[in-house]
Amino acid sequence: MAIATNLGFPRIGGKRELKWLLEKYWSGKIGAEALLEGAAAVREQNWQWQAEAGITQIPVGDFSLYDHVLDWAIRVGGVPAAYQNGKLVSHLDRYFAMARGTQKGADLPAMEMTKWFNTNYHYIVPEWSADQAFHLDAAPFLEEITAAQAVSPDARPVVLGPVSLLLLGKLKGASESPLVLLDRLLPVYQELLAKLNEAGCAWVQWDEPVLAWDLDEATRTALKHSLAHLSDHFGNLKLVLTSYFESLRENLPLAFELPVAAVHLDLVAEPGQLEEALQHVRAEQSLSLGLVDGRNVWRTDLNRAVAFAETAAKAVGSERVLIGPSCSLLHSPVDLEAETAIDAEVKSWLAFSRQKLAEIATIVRAVNEGRDAVANALHQNAEAIHTRRTSRRTHNPVVRDRAAAVLPEHRRRGTEYGTRQSSQKKRLKLPLLPTTTIGSFPQTSQVRQARSQFRKGELTDAEYQRYLEQETETCIRRQEALGLDVLVHGEFERNDMVEYFGEQLEGFVVSKAGWVQSYGSRCVKPPILFGDVQRTEPMTVPMAKYAQSLTDRPVKGMLTGPVTILCWSFVRDDQPRRETCEQIALAIRDETTDLEAAGIGVIQIDEPALREGLPLRKGDQPDYLAWAVGAFRLASSGVRDETQIHTHMCYCEFNEILPSIACLDADVISIETSRSQMELLDGFGEFDYPNEIGPGVYDIHSPRVPSTQEMVQLLTKGIDVIPVERLWVNPDCGLKTRAWPEVEASLKAMVEAASEVRTQL
Ligand code: GLN
Ligand code: ZN
Repeated sequence: MAIATNLGFPRIGGKRELKWLLEKYWSGKIGAEALLEGAAAVREQNWQWQAEAGITQIPVGDFSLYDHVLDWAIRVGGVPAAYQNGKLVSHLDRYFAMARGTQKGADLPAMEMTKWFNTNYHYIVPEWSADQAFHLDAAPFLEEITAAQAVSPDARPVVLGPVSLLLLGKLKGASESPLVLLDRLLPVYQELLAKLNEAGCAWVQWDEPVLAWDLDEATRTALKHSLAHLSDHFGNLKLVLTSYFESLRENLPLAFELPVAAVHLDLVAEPGQLEEALQHVRAEQSLSLGLVDGRNVWRTDLNRAVAFAETAAKAVGSERVLIGPSCSLLHSPVDLEAETAIDAEVKSWLAFSRQKLAEIATIVRAVNEGRDAVANALHQNAEAIHTRRTSRRTHNPVVRDRAAAVLPEHRRRGTEYGTRQSSQKKRLKLPLLPTTTIGSFPQTSQVRQARSQFRKGELTDAEYQRYLEQETETCIRRQEALGLDVLVHGEFERNDMVEYFGEQLEGFVVSKAGWVQSYGSRCVKPPILFGDVQRTEPMTVPMAKYAQSLTDRPVKGMLTGPVTILCWSFVRDDQPRRETCEQIALAIRDETTDLEAAGIGVIQIDEPALREGLPLRKGDQPDYLAWAVGAFRLASSGVRDETQIHTHMCYCEFNEILPSIACLDADVISIETSRSQMELLDGFGEFDYPNEIGPGVYDIHSPRVPSTQEMVQLLTKGIDVIPVERLWVNPDCGLKTRAWPEVEASLKAMVEAASEVRTQL
C-alpha cells in the first residue's frame, strides 16, 4: 500500500494567526504563555487538517516560531557566544534576540538572514565558531512529537541533516568549510536518533537540501560519512532522504547509495528523474514521489501524477512508494476556500496547501484502490486541466503574435551609452553627484487606512484619488525643500511593487489571503500570474504626469521590471518562465514609452529580484541570465536617447552577476551598499562598470539618522572607485517602511553631504 505523506505545512496559520501572536508578543501585549499556547493551537490545527485529509505521515518539527534553521542551530547547541548573555533571561528572549536583535537588557544585532535556496523564504544563517561545542537541546521538539502522535500515530519528525545544517551556516573567523565541524556534530545527531527511537517513531524525514546544489567532493564525502556513521544508531527508524527545488541529477546515484530507507524526488522540478531513480533504487529502498507542487498554486494534473505513481508502484511494489508534495508546503498559501473574489474559472485551476493535501490523498487512493475508486475526482480534475490548457485567457493570440514578432533591435537603445549620456545631460541639466531617492516615501498609517477605506467602499474613487494626489504633492514639496535633484512621486498608491502591477495587468489575479511566510512574522502575498499578460491601459502615467506637473525638477516614472514581477508572483507552469517574462516585458515597454510620451524624462525600472531568479545549478545560470537581461532590455529600450533609464537592485551578491548587470545597459543603476561601507562598489570599479551608478549612502533598514560626515566619507570612497561624472547620491532602497521625521533628517544630511563633496572637487 502506497503511503500519503507531507514534507511540511505553512506555519503562519490560515488567518496568519502566528503573525499576529508574534507581533503582540514582541510589543508586550501578550506574554510568553499566550504566545506558546497560540502557536501550539496553530500546530495542532495543521496536524488535524492533514490527518483529516488522509495524510498518514504528517510532519512534525516543520513548525517554527520564527525559522526552522534557527531552531536546528539551537537544537544542536549552536547559540553564538554573544547570545549566551545573562541578560537574556528566558529561552524566548534568546531565541528572538538571535532572530531579530534586541535592545532590551542586552544590545544585540539580529543574526544574518538569507534566502532559502531559490525561494523567497529567508532563514537565519547559523554562526559556527572554530571551537564550537555541540549538545542536544531537543526537549520541546520531543514534546511536539508526542503531541503529533496523539493526532496521528505515524507522525514523521522532520530533521535538518547535519551536512546541510553546517553548510547553511558560516564558520566565523576561519576560511575553512563548516564541514570541519562534522565529526564533532555527529554525536548530537546520534543522541537525537536514540530519542526518536524511544519516542517510537517509524519514519524520519532527513532533509539534506544541499543535494539540490552542485556538490564538491568534500560535501559528497560528508554526506556518505555522516549517514554511514549514524546508520549504526538508526534502530527501528527508517530515513527518507529529502531534497527539493531541483532534480538530483548527478547526485542521484549518491543519494540512493546512502544507507537510507527511501529517497525523495522532486518530480515537479524534473519528472524525468523517476526513470533514472528506478534504475538506482536498491531492493530494500522505497521511493518518495514529490508529485504535487509544494511551491506554486496550480492544481496538479492528477491523471498524469497517478500514472507516475503507478509506474513506480509497478516497478518496486506499492508498499515501497511514498507520495507527497515536491517540497514543504511552507511556500504555498493555506486555503483556497478563503478566496471568494477570484473568478470561478481561474479558481478551478488553483490548489493551495489544504487542496494539495486532498490531491495527495487522491493519488494514493488511485494507486491503492484503483482509479475507479476516485473516478469522480479524476474526472473533475481532468476538466479543470483541460479548460486551463485551452482557455483564451491562457492563450491570447494577440499577445502571442506580438511576442513572436520581437526583433533584436527591440532590445537595443537607439545609440550606445556615451551618446545617450550627452543627450541626457543636455536635457536634465543636473549637477555633478545628483541626489535622488529610490521611489517610495513613508507609507504612514493614514496612507494604509485610506487604502483600506477605499477597498471597503468607504471612500469613493474620486475621494481616494484626491487623497493620493495630496500626499504626492506634499511629498514633492518636501523633496524640493530638501533640495533633491531628481524627485519621485512617492508610491502612495501602491500597496506592493508587484501586486500593484498584478492588479492592473491582464493575466493576473490577486488573492485576498494567499499569504506565504517570507521571514519571521513577515508574509508576502504574490499575485497569481495565470495567463497571457497584457496591458489594457496605462498603469502609472496619470500619477507620474500629475507629479511632474507640480515641479520643474525631473520626477522619475517608477516601474517594476519584468524579472521582478515574474520572480515575486506565482507564475504559470504551463510554459517556460522566459516566455512569461517576455510578455511582462512587452507590457512594461508600453508603459515606458507612454511615460516618455507624457513628458517623463527619467524612468526607473526596478529589478531587485534579478539575482534571486538565478538557478541553483551553475550550468543553468547563463541561460537564465541571458533571457532575464533580454527581458529587461526589451522593457526599457523603446525610449529615445534623451530619456534616462534607471534601475535599482537591493543587496545581493552583485559580483557574480556583474557582467549581466552591465548588459542591462540602464543609464543609471542604484544599489544597496551602505552596510558594506561601499565595499560592494569595488566590484563595479574593478569590472569597469560603464554606466552611471548610485551606491546607497545610508541604510534605510534602521531608523538611525546618518551624519553628513559619514556620508561624505562614503562618497569620497565612491569617487575613488567610480569617476565622479558617473556617480549618483541616494539611499540604499525605498523609504516606505520609515517615518517622515527620520526620512527628512537623513535626506537633509545626504543632500548636505553631496554639496560638501561637490565643493571639494
Ligand atoms: N521603488 C521601490 C521602492 O522605493 C523599490 C523597492 C525595492 O527595491 N525592493 O520602494
Ligand atoms: Zn531596494
